[in-house]
Amino acid sequence: MTNTNVWRPMAQNIEFDALESNVNAVIAVADTVRTTLGPKGLDKLLIDQAMNRHVSNDGVTILLSLKTIHPVARMVVEIAERQEQLVGDGTTTAVVMAAEMVKEGKRLIKELGVHPTKVVEGIESGVYYACELLEKVARKISIDDVELEYVVNTSLASKLDGKRLASIVISAIRAVGNNASYNGSYDFDKSIKIVRRMNMDDKVISGLILERGRLDKDLPLEIRDARILVCKLDLKPVKESWLKENSRYEDILTMEKDRVTKAKEIVDAMLATGANVILIASPEIDDAVENLLISRRVFTAIISTDEIEHVARYTGAKPVRLMDDLKLPDILGYADRVYEDEDNNIIYIENGKNKNIVTIIVSGTTKETSLERWRAARDGVNAAEAALNNGVVVGGGAAELHVIDKMKGLKLKGLEQVGVDVVAAALESIMRQILTNAGFNGLEKVMTAKALPDTFGIDINTGEPIDMMEAGVLDPLLVKTTALKAAGEIAKAVLRIDRNLAAEDLSQQAISESRR
Ligand code: ADP
Ligand code: MG
Repeated sequence: MTNTNVWRPMAQNIEFDALESNVNAVIAVADTVRTTLGPKGLDKLLIDQAMNRHVSNDGVTILLSLKTIHPVARMVVEIAERQEQLVGDGTTTAVVMAAEMVKEGKRLIKELGVHPTKVVEGIESGVYYACELLEKVARKISIDDVELEYVVNTSLASKLDGKRLASIVISAIRAVGNNASYNGSYDFDKSIKIVRRMNMDDKVISGLILERGRLDKDLPLEIRDARILVCKLDLKPVKESWLKENSRYEDILTMEKDRVTKAKEIVDAMLATGANVILIASPEIDDAVENLLISRRVFTAIISTDEIEHVARYTGAKPVRLMDDLKLPDILGYADRVYEDEDNNIIYIENGKNKNIVTIIVSGTTKETSLERWRAARDGVNAAEAALNNGVVVGGGAAELHVIDKMKGLKLKGLEQVGVDVVAAALESIMRQILTNAGFNGLEKVMTAKALPDTFGIDINTGEPIDMMEAGVLDPLLVKTTALKAAGEIAKAVLRIDRNLAAEDLSQQAISESRR
């Protein structure tokens, strides 16, 4: 087999062409999100191919909606997406810093003739030192501290209706409290569920909600002292495919009898456990099983596979997969009350007997606003988790800015200093952008802020110096360090590329040539 791919230069082979094009791609991506940074950042109106509208201030949402074809632009989007998955916040910060790093890196390479590998090495150590210094100034916080409120408020400052969402997020976090910590580290994914409902008010519910109604309107609406069976059994005891193989009338009759008998066996075994609430997460359910459950008036609902984990955690139920498992002890979960809110088509599970779980309901008048608010609430929960696990630093770009001087104080050898310059440019850019977005001359304000004490930055409303700690503007350390590392990764990859090559399919070419 011959290799049909040949690598051809995408641009003309002039030195720096690739560097220029790739750096511009990163800057272009950053330009689409930079004006959203910080509490005075603006929203974007996104229109998808089906002409649906979405309004968003969320860096990663905006980036994912771009139809970027430039490979480097795509890489930036991917790294932002990973940042989102890792810490759930700080995507705009990462992208803005990446743009600054590549801009400064390019200047060093093109104008000062520094070799790209040196710049790349420098960025690596620069990011390392910056993270280390940020870690040094970070403060630990705990769940009852007012700082937790500050962090959540700061993270939601730029969001639609952020203050209200922040207070909801904080009460949810305090409601699950230390229950959500495992070996000293918090994982709110397991204990806080966020759902969006268009016609309900924002609230925090102690307990779980399932976004569906019960199997049939004839079933009881409410069960007190619920004994809950979570069922993953095969509830289609007789498969329809058998019909094809056994198509004689007698066979069909036997099969039908078999189906009813088996269904009855299953339902009897389920009820023999003592369950008065049955939550089914089986892929298929035979009508016979469904009808039997309804005729026996058992509160039954179909749940999704992701809901199983929450129900199991909250009520202590052990999901049952095999008929034999129904005979095991302790398979049922317990809750004080299970009931359906028929108007909203949701089921509440209250006072589960196992671990604490709370549900945050976020409202929204349209699908778009409810989605944007849901994302914001999730950002707030993620920010709180990161802050509790790794500590906090002052926000508004102040922590980043004050690291610069400390980095310059490190006695670095030779070209490592170059990396510091690149990383310093990125560290400065956050405060500059936040203040530019607030209508000030960002550069000038950054100059002022540099001379201020470590916890000081600039008030986004007045433009005057302010102690960010006292003003309650705090960010999770982890968001900052992860964003810095992500930016460094983008910059290193981009600055290292000296040529963009595109694959051309030779066989395609051959075909078109033969047609000529
Ligand atoms: P990202 O996608 O990077 O999280 P955001 O738009 O959420 O971007 O902005 C986060 C930045 O806004 C953080 O640097 C945070 O410190 C800053 N910020 C939030 N509230 C304030 C405030 N009141 N004053 C100054 N900066 C703030
Ligand atoms: Mg944010």
